[in-house]
Amino acid sequence: MDLCIIGSGYVGLVSGACFAEVGHHVVCVDNDQRKVDALQAGKIPIYEPGLEELVHRNVAAKRLRFTNSIEDGLDHSQVLFIAVPTPPQADGSVDLTYIERVAREIAAVLKPGQYRVVVDKSTVPVKTGEKVADTIKRYNKNAEFDVVSNPEFLREGCAVPDLMNPDRVVIGSASQRATDLMKQVYEPFRAPILVTDVNSAELIKHAANSFLSLKISYINAVAAICEASGADVEMVADGIGMDKRIGRNFLNAGLGYGGSCFPKDVKAFIAISRQLGTPFTLLEEVERINTQQLSRYIDKVRDALWVLKDKKIAVWGLTFKPDTDDVRNSVAIDLVNRLVAEGAQVSAYDPKGAEKAVEWGLIDPAKVKLTATPLEAVVDAEALLLATEWPEFANQDFSQVKEKMHTPLVFDGRNLFNPETMKDLGFTYYAVGRPSH
Ligand code: NAD
Repeated sequence: MDLCIIGSGYVGLVSGACFAEVGHHVVCVDNDQRKVDALQAGKIPIYEPGLEELVHRNVAAKRLRFTNSIEDGLDHSQVLFIAVPTPPQADGSVDLTYIERVAREIAAVLKPGQYRVVVDKSTVPVKTGEKVADTIKRYNKNAEFDVVSNPEFLREGCAVPDLMNPDRVVIGSASQRATDLMKQVYEPFRAPILVTDVNSAELIKHAANSFLSLKISYINAVAAICEASGADVEMVADGIGMDKRIGRNFLNAGLGYGGSCFPKDVKAFIAISRQLGTPFTLLEEVERINTQQLSRYIDKVRDALWVLKDKKIAVWGLTFKPDTDDVRNSVAIDLVNRLVAEGAQVSAYDPKGAEKAVEWGLIDPAKVKLTATPLEAVVDAEALLLATEWPEFANQDFSQVKEKMHTPLVFDGRNLFNPETMKDLGFTYYAVGRPSH
C-alpha cells in the first residue's frame, strides 16, 4: 500500500521504516527542513537500535522516502498517519495545536475525489478525532475522508521490535471502508487487531500509559515501606509479580517514571477526566509518589554526604531509559540539575544522551562535566549515582571504579547492581527499597 506519515520523529520515523520493511511504500513528511535534509542524506536524527539499517535498506529498495511537503505525501498515499507532538500545557492538558495545524494542512491539499484515511497515531485526548474531522470539513467542504484513531504503543529503546511484533493493534473507526484499509496496512504484521469506536481507541492509550505509571508508583510506594521496615523490594516485586494476574513487568522500584510519554500522558488523563466532570484522583497520587521518589533519593545522598555544595558527584546515565538518546523529561536530567542547584560538582556520563541533553538546553555544559567514559566520571568522586540502567554500567570493572573514586559510595537509583557484590568490593551501597550495605 501507499502510506504517508506526517511527523518523522521517534514514532513517525520508526513506524514509516517498519511499514516499508513489510512491503508498503512510505513517504515520511516533516516540516523540520534540517531533519528532512539529514534523512535524505542517509543520516538518522535519533538513536534507536536497528533503525539505521532498517531505514537504509528500505530507502535503497525505494520503499521509503522523505519530504517536507504534505501535498507530495498525500498525493501518493491512501492512508495518512499523523505522528506529530502533543506536548503538555502548563495546566497538564494537551497542546493540540500541532494536530490542528496538520488537519488544516491536509484540508488545504486534499483534492476532490481523493478519498483518504486520516489516522491519528499521536497520543491525543478522547474526542480529538471528532475535532480533526470537523476541522478538515471546515477548511475543505469537498473533502472525502475518514478519521481513524490508531494509538501507538511502542517503547523507545525497543521501538523496532515493538512495531514489527505488536501485542495488539488498536483501530478506532466509524467507517467500514477505513477499517478495511487499516486492516490491510497491518495484515503483514500478523498481530491481534482490536477494532473499536474512535473515542475508545483514543482513551485506550491514555488509560494504558496511566496504568503502567500506576504500577511504577505502586512499587515505589512499596519500596518506601521496604526501606522503613528492612524488607527487600526486589523480593517483594518477585513475589507479587509471579501472580499471573499482576505480572512482574513495570514493578521495578527506582527513581520514578520519566520520558516524553508517561509524565505527560498521566497529566493529560487527569486533565481530561476533570474536563469531563469525572476527576480521576487516583492518578494525582500516582504523580505525587513519582515526584517524591527523586526527592527521597536526593535526601539519601544528602544524609550520607551532609552538605552537597562543592561535593564531587558522578552521575551515570542521562537518558530517561536505556537504549535511547531521548532525554526529554528524564529523571536523570532532573537529578543532575538539582545537584548542580545545590552547588555540587557533577561529572556525568551517558552512552548516547549527552549530546542531545546539551543541544536541547537541558544541561549546561559549563556547570556539568560531561565525560567520554564512565570511569572518567568517577575520578575523585565522593559518590556515584546510577540514574539510568544502561547494561554497560553493570559490566564495569568496579575495582577500578573504586580505585578512582575519593570515597566508595554508590547510590543505585535503578537497583542495577548486586548488593552483595558491591559490599564484597568494599563499596557502601544504597539501593531503592533494599537494605543498605
Ligand atoms: P517527536 O517530537 O520525536 O516527532 C514529531 C515530529 O513531528 C518532529 O520531527 C516534528 O518536526 C514533526 N512535526 C511537527 N509538526 C509538523 C507538521 N505540521 N508537519 C510535519 N511534521 C511536523 O515526537 P514523538 O516522540 O514521535 O511523538 C509523536 C506522538 O506520538 C506524540 O503524541 C507522542 O505522545 C506519541 N507517542 C510517542 C511515543 C514515544 O515513545 N516517543 C510512543 C507512543 C506514542
